[in-house]
Amino acid sequence: MKNLLDYTQAELSEFIQPKFRTKQIYEWIYKKNARSFDEMSNLPKDIRERLKNEFYIEPLEMIKNEISSDGSIKYLFKLKDGKTIESVLLPMKEEIVDENGKTQKHARYTICVSSQVGCKMGCSFCLTAKGGFIRNLTAGEIVGQILWIKRENNIPYERRVNIVYMGMGEPLDNLNNVSKAINILKDNDGLAIGARRQTISTSGLATQIKKLGEMDLGVLLAISLHAVTDELREKLMPVNKAYNIASVMDAVRQFPIDMRKRVMFEYLIMDKINDNLSDAKALVKLLHGIKAKVNLILFNPHEGSPYQRPSQENVEKFRDYLQSRGVTCTIRQSKGLDISAACGQLKERSKGENSATA
Ligand code: SAH
Ligand code: SF4
Repeated sequence: MKNLLDYTQAELSEFIQPKFRTKQIYEWIYKKNARSFDEMSNLPKDIRERLKNEFYIEPLEMIKNEISSDGSIKYLFKLKDGKTIESVLLPMKEEIVDENGKTQKHARYTICVSSQVGCKMGCSFCLTAKGGFIRNLTAGEIVGQILWIKRENNIPYERRVNIVYMGMGEPLDNLNNVSKAINILKDNDGLAIGARRQTISTSGLATQIKKLGEMDLGVLLAISLHAVTDELREKLMPVNKAYNIASVMDAVRQFPIDMRKRVMFEYLIMDKINDNLSDAKALVKLLHGIKAKVNLILFNPHEGSPYQRPSQENVEKFRDYLQSRGVTCTIRQSKGLDISAACGQLKERSKGENSATA
C-alpha cells in the first residue's frame, strides 16, 4: 500500500485518468477532509476501488498530545512502521471579535513539523540528537502532520497557517522529500499553503542551503546559529566542523529571498555559555550586510543536559543591544514551556512512561 499524500497531482495522474480526477481527489483530501475513498462521491466506483486497493490516506496515528497553558498543543504521532515523531500547533494570534460579535481579526497559527525520525547532527543541547538518526520522513509523512493538525483542530480551510520545519530532524538532510512536501502543500487544489508561509530551519548545511536556493522554491530560511565563534559552535554543533560559520554566512548571502523578507537567525541562549554582551556584539558584526532578524530562543532544560536557562535580565540586555544596533530581534515566547515544546522532549518523556509501566 502507498501513502497517497506522497503524490503530487502530476504523479497521481500516471495512475488515475482522466486528468481532472486528480484534482477531485486532491480536493476531497485537502479541502473536504475526506478520510476514506468511499466519501469521494463524485468519483466513479471503479476508480474508488482502485484507489482503495493501492493507497491509504492516513499515514499517522496520534498517540499522545499535551496542551500547554499558552494554548500550544504538542502531538506525538506514530508512523506506519511504528516510529514516532512530534509536531506542535502554535496559536500565534487570537481571534478578535468586536462588540457586535463580528470577527475583526482571525486567529493565526503556526505548525511546527518534523522532517526526520531522529537526526544525524548531534547537537549537544538537543534531545532529538540523543537517539541518533533513524530515517527520513517521506513527503507524505510531512504533509500528513499538517493535514492531521488542521483537520482535528477544525482550523478552517482558508485560515492562514505558517509552517516551520523546526521539529525533529534536519530538513536539509532530507531535501528531496522536504522540497516535495513544500510543493504538495503549495498546490492550490490542495492545502494551498504558499512557499512564503513555509520556513526551513537548518543547522547550517552550507552546500544544501545553496541547493535549496537553486531550487528557487520561494521558501524562507532560518539558520540555527547559536554561537558566534567557530570554537564554541563546534562544541555545541559538530556540523560546524564540516561547515564553519563563514561558509554558512556565505551560503546565506547567496540565498534568493523576497525583497520584503529576511533570513531568520535562531540563537539558543544558554546561561554563561553564549549570553554575554560580547556575544551580542560579535553577532551584530557577523550579520553586517545581511537582511536578518534574530530570534532568541531560551534554552529549554531537559534531563541530563549540561546547560541551563539564561537569566531574563541577560536575555533582555542581549536583545536591547542588538536592537540598538538596528538588528531586528525577538525573544521567542516560552510557548509550550510547561509541555517542554523543544522538540524531542515529548517523545523522550513518553518513552520513560512506557518503561515505567512495562
Ligand atoms: N535541525 C534544524 C531544525 C530542527 S531543530 C535546526 O537545528 O535548525 C529546531 C530548533 O529547536 C533549533 O533552532 C534548535 O536549536 C531548537 N532546540 C533544540 N533543542 C532545544 C532546547 N533544549 N531548548 C530550546 N530549543 C531547542
Ligand atoms: Fe538535529 Fe536541529 Fe537537534 Fe541539531 S538542533 S540535533 S540539527 S534537530
